[in-house]
Amino acid sequence: MSEAARTDDRPAADVLATPVQYLRGVGPQRAELLERLGLRTARDVLFYFPRDYQDLSDLNTIDDLAENVLLRVRAEVLEVESRRGRNGRTVLGLLLKVGPATVNAVWFNQPFLRDRFAVGQQLLLIGKARFRGGVWQFSHPSTSIIEAEPDEDLPNMLPVYSLTEGLAQGHLRRIVRAAVELCLPVLEEVFPPLYLEQHALLPLQQALPQIHFPHDRDQLATARRRFVYQELFILQLALATRRRRQHDQSQAPPLETSAKIDARIRRLFPFELTEGQNQAIREICADLALPLPMNRLLQGDVGSGKTIVAMYAILLAIAHGYQAALMAPTEILARQHAATLGKLLSHSQVRWKLLTGGLPASQREAIRAGLRSGELDAVIGTHAMLHNDVEFSRLGVVVIDEQHKFGVRQREILRRAGVDPHYLVMTATPIPRSLAMTLFGDLEVTTLRDAPPGRQTVRTYLATAEQREKWWDFFRRKLRTGRQGYVIAPLVDAEQTVTSFDDDAEAPPAAAEQLFEALAHGPLSEFRVGLVHGRMSGAEKQAAMEKFRSGQTQVLVATTVIEVGVDVPNATLMTIEDGHCFGLSQLHQLRGRITRGTHPGYCCVFAEIKNDAARERLEALVNTTDGFALAEIDFKLRGPGDLLGTQQHGLPPLRIADLHEDGAILEEARQDAREMIAQDPGLAAPDHQRLRRQMLSRYGSVLELGDVG
Ligand code: ADP
Ligand code: MG
Repeated sequence: MSEAARTDDRPAADVLATPVQYLRGVGPQRAELLERLGLRTARDVLFYFPRDYQDLSDLNTIDDLAENVLLRVRAEVLEVESRRGRNGRTVLGLLLKVGPATVNAVWFNQPFLRDRFAVGQQLLLIGKARFRGGVWQFSHPSTSIIEAEPDEDLPNMLPVYSLTEGLAQGHLRRIVRAAVELCLPVLEEVFPPLYLEQHALLPLQQALPQIHFPHDRDQLATARRRFVYQELFILQLALATRRRRQHDQSQAPPLETSAKIDARIRRLFPFELTEGQNQAIREICADLALPLPMNRLLQGDVGSGKTIVAMYAILLAIAHGYQAALMAPTEILARQHAATLGKLLSHSQVRWKLLTGGLPASQREAIRAGLRSGELDAVIGTHAMLHNDVEFSRLGVVVIDEQHKFGVRQREILRRAGVDPHYLVMTATPIPRSLAMTLFGDLEVTTLRDAPPGRQTVRTYLATAEQREKWWDFFRRKLRTGRQGYVIAPLVDAEQTVTSFDDDAEAPPAAAEQLFEALAHGPLSEFRVGLVHGRMSGAEKQAAMEKFRSGQTQVLVATTVIEVGVDVPNATLMTIEDGHCFGLSQLHQLRGRITRGTHPGYCCVFAEIKNDAARERLEALVNTTDGFALAEIDFKLRGPGDLLGTQQHGLPPLRIADLHEDGAILEEARQDAREMIAQDPGLAAPDHQRLRRQMLSRYGSVLELGDVG
């Protein structure tokens, strides 16, 4: 038997550390069950928040029963009967007690429901009823089990916790209640009282019982707000602290812009910049002018013209006698950037090189030597090439292209002792604002919202196998008029396996190699077809891309190696096979390949649609061409993990905040955290001690906050 723990005279920490076994209603056996949920102490139980709530407010009574109205009643199970009816249908019937009366509930052909119900159970029943043969009958109502005694008076809202086998909802509710009663008197508020008031936050003493046992939705919302705010605020405090420390500890060369330098750079550009590009450049220049390293994320939809903005920063560094590095995720992209830079600089003195794995070792060494001595002003290369012990004599600016898997901890590259370079990170996978503020909490974000003039539209079709012939007809017709096209497959070859985004799909996804053979000898036999995929060597990929760029091949069968950045303006057609295997942002990236020229693009996605989520995703692709809207939808449907590889960023998971739903609170918390850190950088004020301790215990080591304060 368990012994109720007592609080008298014990210090708060001891009370909170009470092992669950000594909570009222627990004991050794249940303690083991709780352990499985990670609940070891009273404190753990206090902060084990419900995953959902049962709303028992506004229940109907027996007098409210009427046909064709949606009813919500509390019912007790009197009898459960399951039988096989005529034509083999199973019929499950419940005899229920609602207040003083009895009613029936029936389900047809849902035999698995049988095990859900037992005599004596209390149910919340929602559905419509009909008066049949003298009794009220609910047909296929929705039910949830209320863990309560038959006559127990219940509050309007009941918490629903995640359970483990052997532990009932009712038990856990009582255990939580015991923990709350035990600990409430000793709970310590982390926020100063005035702070709570000014930010409309419920004090912990009220919020904690209220999040477990709210009387109504309003109470729940105010309690929840308090915990969500606290969680996000602590995170933002940590990010702001980290950022501050980095500022304190690092310096970068101030690169000021003058009218003269600006004019010299712009003279190299072949077009007028868009308003968005000019604004981005202003923001970047303001950062670069400071003796602190810039940490800026430039995000803009596919084709929004990020490259030229990056070139501006690179040229500004060079104008000041500093070096610049541009890192691309693939060799194809590195080459493309080299071509762009080459054109801009065709008549200038700037000395720069393309550093790729394909170069002979002697040439690679020569480039490295040039960077080390300062003979070279700029280098373009893949992430891999530039990560490997490249030294610079005066590195001023680093541009990282198409890097969206880029968490708070992953920017410490190319660091020299003493002076850091400025960083500009570019991504075309727009990051939902809430994520940018969390994972990238220490990055400033610039967003390019407009596109260069004349940007082409793209039409997207979602097609089934029956429409294939029609689409190839269209594809061929466009090819004959001189256009080029891509055909995208999820796999390289049929042997490869892939994790599908649609788990229900049955047929194995298409493979580029097989598709190439089938098309070249089938529907596209009259055209010149090429192939590119990630298993080819750098030289092979380069050759395949070059043939396509120059028009030697008219069709390019590819995997997602062409996903980012590839720019062939004459390509306006795209077939995507097995669209269900790709993420939404990825599909949008792919489609961005065919909006680069003077002709409109046409993209046809073939997909097996096996569930609503798959349909919703693909329909969103058809209905919107706004990459930001799509990123938000992707985020909502799949969570942040897939989108950004959040597992890589190394932060512990959030317990209560939902980055998608709580965007507004996140903004508030971030703003407030920044203000607090600006006023009290080390959180040294006596009022801030508890906040500081929470921040350090949660984020101190992951974010290397060290000995703050
Ligand atoms: P992304 O943002 O996807 O990296 P790019 O920088 O590759 O886009 O630009 C897409 C295309 O638009 C390129 O061909 C580029 O030359 C062109 N472009 C960029 N800015 C402008 C502009 N202001 N006016 C006209 N064309 C532009
Ligand atoms: Mg780009």
